[in-house]
Amino acid sequence: MRRYRIGVLEGDGIGPEVVPPAVDAVEAARAVVGGPAIDWVPLPMGLTAYEREGSTLPAATVAALETCDGFLLGPVSHHTYAVGRPEMANPSGTLRKRFDLYANVRPARSFAGVKTRYTGVDLVVVRENTEGFYADRNVLDGNGEFRPDADTVISVRVVTRKASRRIAEYAFALAAERARARGRQGRVTAVHKQNVLKLGDGLFLDCCREVASRYPEVAFDTAHVDAFAMFLVQRPEAYDVIVTTNLFGDVLSDEAAGLVGGLGLAPSLNVGADIAMAQAVHGSAPDIAGRGIANPVAEILSMQMLLAWLGQRHDDDAARAAAARIAGAVDRVIAEGRVRTPDLGGRDRTADVARAVVEAVRAC
Ligand code: NAD
Repeated sequence: MRRYRIGVLEGDGIGPEVVPPAVDAVEAARAVVGGPAIDWVPLPMGLTAYEREGSTLPAATVAALETCDGFLLGPVSHHTYAVGRPEMANPSGTLRKRFDLYANVRPARSFAGVKTRYTGVDLVVVRENTEGFYADRNVLDGNGEFRPDADTVISVRVVTRKASRRIAEYAFALAAERARARGRQGRVTAVHKQNVLKLGDGLFLDCCREVASRYPEVAFDTAHVDAFAMFLVQRPEAYDVIVTTNLFGDVLSDEAAGLVGGLGLAPSLNVGADIAMAQAVHGSAPDIAGRGIANPVAEILSMQMLLAWLGQRHDDDAARAAAARIAGAVDRVIAEGRVRTPDLGGRDRTADVARAVVEAVRAC
């Protein structure tokens, strides 16, 4: 049986409420399908780490992650972190760059039992995760921003051929895989603002076109980000894989989450060549933190994506089976609708949903 080391970083706000249910779901699935073996490695990160160790991302945490096969990152209250202080760096952005987690994969799909204006949504935003407006190369203060004088801020956007080609490759490979699994044609839509950002998005689009020519079986189209934001609310069911740069992907994936039930249901995986980081799309939700009412599903499904990725990467049937078990259990709990947190119109608590998912994992 394969054994994995998985880092667990609870983070800020609702992190300590929604991260443990993701671990519990995996433990339940492991017990049912008989593997894989997992060593969970709890690691300090975020404001608690800052208070205890003087850093939101202690060096020992990063060193421990280097020994892991993957990790689960809770949300961070980044708006409270001081600007320009390395000891208050954003752990999320830092880890994405440190481990070269170049693809942020953010699925949005309609759930049976969740009433929205749409049915049949089944799309994935593939967001370039290492550069764009969130690059910090050669500039001060992180996130590609610097302040030449008190009244001016310059935000630098970095677009490289290497990163654009790599993210396009990821998107087309994913579309081809989804097409095989669904028995229909795959499609990639590249979203950009090339009419204004002619050089940067021009380069990004050139790379997408080059990769598209190697995937004749996958349909390819492009859209300006402003028009696309409208198309997405008009006909989200028309889209399959959406590939885009960092900032646009960040925004559009929250929009996509809103179409299918909200951030409480929106998972994501940050994928690199050798390691992946599960991380729900949502933030630390300070408005509901500490009340025990956050929806744990986004975090559970993020962990489920990590398990599926480990299964694929290591050709590990047990990890794949455990991941499938969790996905089925979550679908069932949501479809039955007996246990719901307030974001989905219910009155139940985080712990109630977490328990229902574990029970469904055992019963499926
Ligand atoms: P947010 O995602 O934290 O919250 C937006 C809204 O969605 C809030 O009303 C919140 O209650 C709700 N929500 C989010 N997750 C939920 C869940 N699991 N269950 C039920 N409701 C949920 O975004 P924000 O308020 O704009 O940002 C708060 C903080 O989070 C900021 O510091 C921001 O920088 C940070 N942030 C962090 C991440 C991350 O760590 N990955 C992502 C986005 C924002």
